[in-house]
Order: sequence, then structure tokens, then C-alpha cells
Amino acid sequence: MKNYNGVIDELINGTWVSPSDQNQYGIPIKNIQILESVEGLESGLINKLHDNQKLLVVSDPFTHKAMGERIFKNLTGKVNVDEYIWEKPSSSIEGVDHLREKLKNYDGMIAVGSGTVSDSIKYATFLEKKNYSVFATTPMNAYTTGTASIAFNGIKKSLVAHYAQGVFFDLNVLSHCPKRLTAAAFADVICRTTAQVDWLMSHQLLNTEYKPIPYELLALYEQQMIDAAKEISEGKINALALLTRISAIMGLGTSFTQTTHVGSMGEHGVSHYIDMFAGDKHPGTSHGEQVGIATISISKLQNSILKKDQPPIITPTNIPEDEIIQKLGEPMLETIKKAMEPKIFDQKKADETNEYFLKNWSEFAEPLREKMLDYDIIWNSMGECGALRTAEDAKLDSNFYKDALKYGRFIRDRYTILDLAGDSNQLDSLINV
Ligand SMILES: [Zn+2]
Repeated sequence: MKNYNGVIDELINGTWVSPSDQNQYGIPIKNIQILESVEGLESGLINKLHDNQKLLVVSDPFTHKAMGERIFKNLTGKVNVDEYIWEKPSSSIEGVDHLREKLKNYDGMIAVGSGTVSDSIKYATFLEKKNYSVFATTPMNAYTTGTASIAFNGIKKSLVAHYAQGVFFDLNVLSHCPKRLTAAAFADVICRTTAQVDWLMSHQLLNTEYKPIPYELLALYEQQMIDAAKEISEGKINALALLTRISAIMGLGTSFTQTTHVGSMGEHGVSHYIDMFAGDKHPGTSHGEQVGIATISISKLQNSILKKDQPPIITPTNIPEDEIIQKLGEPMLETIKKAMEPKIFDQKKADETNEYFLKNWSEFAEPLREKMLDYDIIWNSMGECGALRTAEDAKLDSNFYKDALKYGRFIRDRYTILDLAGDSNQLDSLINV
């Protein structure tokens, strides 16, 4: 069986050498397989990781049909398993409690499927100090992260959990997943470009930490994946394999950096803003879809500001308190003031930065330009893979989306191009182009 793991094999073995520091790197997941089909291989894969364990195979009605039924059948008699089809899966703390109850008679779980099933199992097994593996039904990056996205009273939180023992992708199954999901997965990894530029810029201006390791891995395949955008939308196996490999590496990124900055900067802030404040106006778009739309907007800002020959002129940071109270409510203001603390530019810092920019603008901007994808490349490839690209595509109120771009910078402590644009008084005009 052909394996599409690429560099992931070296990461599993702990033998991959980073070109920047010549150190060897491994990953906390014992086995990852990206295969055309996992059919018939299930018991071999699971027995190696869950020797002598009693396991519960958990799917939902959709993933049961797509793959769960077959996996349970192929494990039966070779692994000590029972099956549970979760009729109404929910990645909420109530859903997690439900699974913890189910876990009582088992040593661990096998997740089949979607983000909802996988993240709930990740968190439930973490809390119960048991383990799990997952057969993926989409190419998302959540399968290979150590965090779980769980809702408390309707509000999603990203929680520290643990890694799967094994993550197995069956490309034949993935090629039948809804196109909307593959397009969202593409959007949630092409944001590498905006996240890297923001994170490196924050490092250069505020001396925050920055690690290039995940980007060295993503760079191995990003151009090929962009070239294959159309084939991804058509469900071609080779193209889906590239997207899956990049998504898996993106998920693993956090394991090298111990922070999510690697794939979550300005564009993710905008998506979080949408989830936090859209209320009735939320069009039901997914995380990846929102990130894709925001990536396009952020890329436009980065390309237009950082490619100029002249530096921007920084003025002291202004938190528009009255507007924030009016738009987001009084209680948000305290949260915002705290989030803004590490990235406030006072007069002194603004003066110093302007002086530095005047002397060193091209030295400052050049490394950022190198990491940047051209706006047209992002726009075109997202179109080819069928991703949503604008607020209109998403049926999101365009004034609300402009607010997300304008105020999104205030809700997180990460310094991004939205801060640079805001502090140099060009955010309003760039948003309204
Ligand atoms: Zn994301």
C-alpha cells in the first residue's frame, strides 16, 4: 500500500533534521498514516498502539456509515472492542461528560470521524487518563493537535488535552467528504502565510518568541498544494494527500513551538471575533471558512503595507473605549485593556519605532516579504478549491465583517498587521477599499 506520509515518517521516527538548527525532531503521536485506504489494516494499526486494551469504537451516524461500520467489523475478533454510535454528538462539556461515563468500562477509545467526535474523545480520554486513536474522515488539522475545542454554555474554548496514539487518514473516505469541508481545510492551512508574517513581525518589533521549525516542514509541500487546489476540490487522491499531509503538519506545529501562534494570528483573531460577537448574524460558517475569508483580508493588508518602499508612521495606540462599549458591551472593555497591555505603543515606543523604520525599513520588511504569498495566489487558489473568499460569499453582514477587521485586534494579545495598520492610522481606509 502506497504511503503518502512524506516527511511525517521521519517525524514519527524522530529523525527529521531542521535545516535551521541541525537538531533532530520527533512528534508526540506514535503513528500517523496517510493511505489510499486503511481497509484491512485496522487491527494491525490498533494492536500495535493499544496492546491488550479493551476499546470502544465511537462514531456518529454519518461517520458510522462513511467508515465506522467497516472499522468495527474489521477489528472484531482481532481487538477487544465494542461499538458505540453517538446519535447526537456534541463537542460540549456535556458531550465530554457523556463520553467519560461510557469510558468507565474501557481502557480507551477509537474515534471515527469528524472534529466533534474526535475533539470530545480527545478531551474525555485526557480527563480520564486513558488513551485514544482516531480514524479521520476529513483532512482537518485538529486531529494532530494536543488541544481540544469544547463549548461551555455555547462558547468554544481551546483546552489543553493530549495527543492521539495514532491518527489514520483513509484518502478514499476523505475523497467522499463534503467539498465544503476540504475547502475549509485548505483555507485553514493557507493561513500559514499571514500567520507567519504576523508572528515574525511581532518577534522583530516586540521581541516576542518565534520558531521557524513548523514552517520549514510546511514549506516542503505548500507550493505543490497550491498548484493542486483544483484537484483537491475534485477529490483527487494525490491532491487530497497533499492537503492531508499539510493539515497534519499544521496540527503538529504546536508540538514544536508550545504555542498556537504558528498558525493563528490576525486571521484567526478575526474569525474568533465573528464567533464571539456575530450573535444572530452568524451565518453558521465553520472555523476554517471564516479563517479563509480573514486570511484574504489580512493578506491584502500585509501586501499593501509591507511591500511599500516607505515605512508607515506609528502613533501611540488608541483603544477607542466608547466605540468598544457601544459595539461589544462594557464588560469587554476590561478584557480588552488587559489583552492590549503587551502591545501598547506609547509615545516613546512609537518614536523609537519610527526612527528604527526610517533607518532600517527594508531590513525590517524584507524577511517578512520573503514569507508572504502574493495576494493573487491566495485569492486564485482559494477560488480553485471552492473556498469562501468574501463576507458576501459567507452571507455575513459586510458592516459586521468590517467591524471584525477593525476591532478584532483588541480581543487578543497577539501583535499582528491589524495592530500595525491601526497604530499607523491606515486601518480604516484599507478596510474600506
Ligand atoms: Zn485554524
